[in-house]
Amino acid sequence: MTTMTRSKAHADLLDHKRDTATLGSVAGLLGWDQETYMPGAAADARAAQSSMLAGLIHERSTSERLGALIAACESDEDLTSDAQTAAELREIRRSYDLATKLPGDLVREMAETGSKAQQVWKKAREGNDFAQFEPWLANMVDLARRKAACYGTPEGGEAYDALLEEYEPGATAREIEAVFTPLGERLSSFIQDVADNGTPPDEAPLNVKVPDTAQHAFGLEVLGAMGFDLDAGRLDITAHPFCSGFAPGDTRLTTRYRDERFTDALYGTMHEGGHGLYEQGLPKADKFGSPLADSISLGIHESQSRMWENLVGRSRQFWVWAKPIADTHFAGALDAFGVDDMTRAVNTAKPSFIRVEADEATYNLHVMLRFEIERALLRGDLEAADVPAAWNARFKELFGLDVPDDRRGCLQDVHWSFGLIGYFPTYTLGNLYAAQFWETILEEVPDLESKMERGAFGDLLAWLREKIHAHGKRYRAGELCEMITGKPLSADPLMRHLERRIRPAYGL
Ligand code: ZN
Repeated sequence: MTTMTRSKAHADLLDHKRDTATLGSVAGLLGWDQETYMPGAAADARAAQSSMLAGLIHERSTSERLGALIAACESDEDLTSDAQTAAELREIRRSYDLATKLPGDLVREMAETGSKAQQVWKKAREGNDFAQFEPWLANMVDLARRKAACYGTPEGGEAYDALLEEYEPGATAREIEAVFTPLGERLSSFIQDVADNGTPPDEAPLNVKVPDTAQHAFGLEVLGAMGFDLDAGRLDITAHPFCSGFAPGDTRLTTRYRDERFTDALYGTMHEGGHGLYEQGLPKADKFGSPLADSISLGIHESQSRMWENLVGRSRQFWVWAKPIADTHFAGALDAFGVDDMTRAVNTAKPSFIRVEADEATYNLHVMLRFEIERALLRGDLEAADVPAAWNARFKELFGLDVPDDRRGCLQDVHWSFGLIGYFPTYTLGNLYAAQFWETILEEVPDLESKMERGAFGDLLAWLREKIHAHGKRYRAGELCEMITGKPLSADPLMRHLERRIRPAYGL
């Protein structure tokens, strides 16, 4: 009898989680609509709808009943002795603790200060006036410290680790530093070497004009070949592209078009498509609401998007297949260029000031700079007032360039203004995981490169489904990496990948 009662607790727990996830999917759909088709006049009503839902979701996620169901399951050995269920309970406990450890006052203060700080940041960036933003940055750092104190610092760790729990569960600042430091040193000298000794690729193929409709048709064809199920998803247009996988059978991608640099939209679509394939590959049909149907971390999510965007999309093999398809859509715009011209042009790597415009190689230096600065802020080794000087000095070391103004320096990103501290490293973790997975994929998927030349990506997707997507949140990111590749995360695969791609593009 007791077993029946206990398994009832597990069934009730999963029902509770599924209902909360259903509310979350409604919130997700409202959010998607707001970014795509919502008429401007609906903004106030939408804000009321979204905040009512957020309140309901928060109430359910922190309820005593949920806590009691978790505790009942945790004391049931039949459940905890099963490795998969134990992992499910571990993750449900983790998110319950994160949700309940923050006092309501602090949550409200963070939301209010964040929304004001974001307004100030906008003006400060426009006016290139760091002094205006400085007290708000100091506020946000203070709030982040208080948040970290509520979460609690792991034994031997630092406050930054507590913040990472929201984005990259189980990762620590020290581990990240151990991979980022050698990567940064090698990248800096590699980029310098390419700049000093190589011939920059001709970017003419990127500067042809292609109408939006042709780009959209081309993007849909690429997405279809990648295996993105358009009967269970959509591709729409927004100012800031994103992917939202809110419910079983419903994964929405967005992209944006300009008539120049069609590759920005192409790679944006492939990037969001990679996120979308992960969402479609999670076992939501029968496990929606359980962590076993959730993504592992932002870093692993980003590994999926970067893999399709960069490892696949910037390869010569991809262009062998994609160039003739682009030609069918682009009415001769690319006639003057061959596969090698395309491949070289999309592998340009040169230092620049703005992170979101950076190429595949230099991008990671932008991330490292932010990681170092926010960690120093959190530790109290750096004051908000000294951020511009610290930023510019480190930028010079990493990129060899003098930052002309704060707008193109420490004021460029929105993240810190709404309290996203500990988020930046997940971008580079994504690149690192993607490159490390890729080396294993090339060993385990026979003839992948020749299949890519035919646009046959099915075996690659099947590998990702089996090794990564199907597990949901069962494993931690580092654990999954060791399981799949046999090694802990390292800077080596990403460096090898970049050298192999970028040197030939520069004739080296
Ligand atoms: Zn992404």
